[in-house]
Amino acid sequence: MTSHTLNELIAEGVRGRYILVRSDLNVPLDGSTVTDDGRIKASLPVIEKLSDAGARVLVTAHLGRPKGSPEAKYSLKPAVARLAELAPFKVQLADDTVGGSAKELAASLGDGDVLVLENVRFDARETSKDDAERGAFADELVALTGDNGAFVDDAFGAVHRKHASVYDIATKLPSYQGDLVHTEVEVLRKLTTDTQRPYVVVLGGSKVSDKLAVIDNLLGKADTILVGGGMLFTFLAAVGHKVAGSLLEADQIPVVQDYLKRASDAGTAFVIPTDVVVASRFAADAEHEVVAADAIEDSSFGASGIGLDIGPVSAAAFAEQIKAAKTVFWNGPMGVFEFEAFSGGTRAIAQALTETPAFTVVGGGDSAAAVRTLGFADSQFGHISTGGGASLEYLEGKDLPGLSVLDR
Ligand code: ADP
Ligand code: MG
Repeated sequence: MTSHTLNELIAEGVRGRYILVRSDLNVPLDGSTVTDDGRIKASLPVIEKLSDAGARVLVTAHLGRPKGSPEAKYSLKPAVARLAELAPFKVQLADDTVGGSAKELAASLGDGDVLVLENVRFDARETSKDDAERGAFADELVALTGDNGAFVDDAFGAVHRKHASVYDIATKLPSYQGDLVHTEVEVLRKLTTDTQRPYVVVLGGSKVSDKLAVIDNLLGKADTILVGGGMLFTFLAAVGHKVAGSLLEADQIPVVQDYLKRASDAGTAFVIPTDVVVASRFAADAEHEVVAADAIEDSSFGASGIGLDIGPVSAAAFAEQIKAAKTVFWNGPMGVFEFEAFSGGTRAIAQALTETPAFTVVGGGDSAAAVRTLGFADSQFGHISTGGGASLEYLEGKDLPGLSVLDR
């Protein structure tokens, strides 16, 4: 299955044509300040390519989770203001999605101009479960593009959503993969087909229940799965250890036991930490100590101790595995990295990823935030995925509606 690319569209010629681009401008805000403009910077190249080629660019994007009607706090205004600062071309923001403002401003665009439509989720039809409702919204978006429009999907973070601006629109206009989506798909494909071995997967984060589907799909594909983060305690419980007050999803113990049983037949090895950092309570300044993973209740904090990070011996062992790998995928911090005292495991993994000769991919919103917070640069990793949920669903082997609709 292949999709048409942005370069093919540009080669066809876009001067004077209305090109609708779905971008991912879903940035974190503090009031009206963009606190991390990573996604805006990542979206800029495709918009700029089209503008340079003389297209009249209409950008659709969402921000947060408004409930299907305009809400000032979810306006794209701050994101578009930042885009305009970074962009060498003219950028405007419509006051609505497909209403009077969008129509008027779209009609007045010159070649190379860029108009961003307001948050597509201000229209309830964007996320509707009803095909006809989504289709009707997509038709109104199409109408803004006139007779010779085209669609470019550059919002990897939204490809797992069957939404009007992601999916339905691609059934109505000639459609192309944006460069960002193209790169993400190429990278994720390397993690699922003809993967260079050893293939080591590092999984952490908070809940094992969020990661079960991906673990299931990795059995038999990954050579080694290194287990850290909050989920490690459900693994420890599954092999019969007590975890005191640590995060435990007791109802998932049988599922984890089943994975552990299936793993050896499948040729995948789980590595569970042998030491953990246990704290007196969940706080940045909590007292803490390193204990053996099978003796968590024997810490000074007894049955109330909480495991907040993998221990140094485990971190070093994980780092060795990573350095010996040819491919590494990492999702989920090893501990509560937001607290300096419990960031050691996550830092050790990030460091090992920067030192291994392996092809390295970091996926997951908090994991990407962790490497940046801990002072690493994006360029030190093979690839940092922009779409947490979308990259996990890809690795789960799920059909991503926004991608398959571009296949032909
Ligand atoms: P991602 O967004 O990268 O997929 P998750 O959302 O699954 O990652 O998990 C990130 C969160 O997991 C972080 O906020 C971190 O504090 C938390 N976490 C990691 N280890 C633990 C632990 N031992 N106990 C509780 N929370 C943890
Ligand atoms: Mg997260």
